Amino acid sequence: MTSENPSKLLISTQNPHKLREIRAIMNKSDLELVSLDAIHDAPEVVEDRDTLDGNASKKAEELFQFAGLPTMSDDTGLEVDALGGAPGVRSARFAGENATAAVNRALLLDQLEDSDNRRARFRTIVALTTSEGTRLFEGTCEGVITREERGDSGFGYDCIFQPDGYDQTFAELPSDIKNAISHRGRALAQFAEWMTHNSLPG
Ligand code: IMP
Repeated sequence: MTSENPSKLLISTQNPHKLREIRAIMNKSDLELVSLDAIHDAPEVVEDRDTLDGNASKKAEELFQFAGLPTMSDDTGLEVDALGGAPGVRSARFAGENATAAVNRALLLDQLEDSDNRRARFRTIVALTTSEGTRLFEGTCEGVITREERGDSGFGYDCIFQPDGYDQTFAELPSDIKNAISHRGRALAQFAEWMTHNSLPG
């Protein structure tokens, strides 16, 4: 792989926040990142598996089949100890099939109202599918669920998650700090490390 002729990597997300994070975290790689918007009529992949690994693999594999480009996808869950690991793989649909992030957060704060155990972690699985198959990378970030929303940046559960070692939530921290310590940042760092001694086929 040379920077004059970089390998293309399809990023299978339509979430603009995630895409921005992924581009910022991967900005030193030699890969040409192609967003899903550039793929005409890309199928909508239904995230119906019961694990993060399953959903991440499904997204990467279906879009690889469709577009014929090495494809990376990520699936993330928020695991709350006092809720036995919920919402986990159901984080996007915690309060119902089409629930907004605000409604999901409100339900989570409500369910933890009487709990002093606020321990939680984000877990991200990044799946890379190429003609050689699918490879998974994992990243986690430990922290606590706050008692109220704090901060305006970020997305999803960011304004109620305070990572260990910081007094601010992810929505209060500068994006470069979030990217350096986050679940997605760590999973992508594993991927980038693997890319330093491997290349994408064809
Ligand atoms: P998915 O990976 O897009 O399926 O995300 C699952 C759920 O976790 C969605 O509700 C997202 O909004 C939320 N989520 C994913 N990544 C993050 C993050 O970095 N911060 C906060 N919430 C996130």
